[in-house]
Amino acid sequence: MTKATIDTIQYPVMEAFYTLQGEGYHQGKAAYFVRLGGCDVGCVWCDVKDSWEAGKHPLQSIDDIVAAASVFPGRMAVVTGGEPLMHNLDALTSALHTAGFVTNIETSGAWPVSGSWDWICLSPKKFKAPLPEILPLANELKVVIYNKSDFEWAEKYAALVSPSCKLFLQPEWSKTALVTPLIIDYIKDHPRWEFSLQLHKYIHVP
Ligand code: SF4
Repeated sequence: MTKATIDTIQYPVMEAFYTLQGEGYHQGKAAYFVRLGGCDVGCVWCDVKDSWEAGKHPLQSIDDIVAAASVFPGRMAVVTGGEPLMHNLDALTSALHTAGFVTNIETSGAWPVSGSWDWICLSPKKFKAPLPEILPLANELKVVIYNKSDFEWAEKYAALVSPSCKLFLQPEWSKTALVTPLIIDYIKDHPRWEFSLQLHKYIHVP
C-alpha cells in the first residue's frame, strides 16, 4: 500500500483514551484505547450501544490516531469497538507498529480478521457467532457470563481455541452479584479458566 493510499484511509473513532486495561490477561497495564464505531452484533446487554452506528462518529486519519496515541508514554494500543473488525485494520496496525506500539484487539470475531496483532482477545457473542478463522489465532478467550447456561457455551469455544490460549470468564456487569459466585465455583472445578473482573469500573477509570 502506498503512502498516498494510506493517507486516504480514515476510521470512525468513537473515543480514544489512555488508561489502564481493565479486563483479561493484560489487566492493570497502561494502554491507549481506540474505540472504533460500527457494530452489528447486537448484544442485548451491550454497554456501548452508542458505538453501533459507525456514521455517528468522526472519521480520523491513521496519522491523527497514531499521533494522539504517541503523546502518552505507554506503548500498548488496544483497538476495540463496537466491532473493530468491521473495518480493514491492516494499515492502522502497520502504522502503530512503526510508531513502536504493540497492537492488541478486542473483538467478537464476527468479521474477517485484518491487521497484524500482537494480542487477540476474542470475546465471542451468542448474538452473532465468531468466524472459525479467528479461533486458532486467539491469544485470549474472554467469555461474558450472563446466566448459568453460558458456561456450557464457553466450553464450546474453549475446545476450539489453541491450547496456549488464556481462558477468562467475566461477569456481565449488571449480573455481577448473581453470577460471580457461580463463576468462582466454576473456576474452582475447571482451573484452566481464570476470573476477569472489569477493574476499570471499580477504580473509576474509562
Ligand atoms: Fe456491544 Fe461489543 Fe456486543 Fe457489539 S460486540 S453489541 S459493541 S458488546
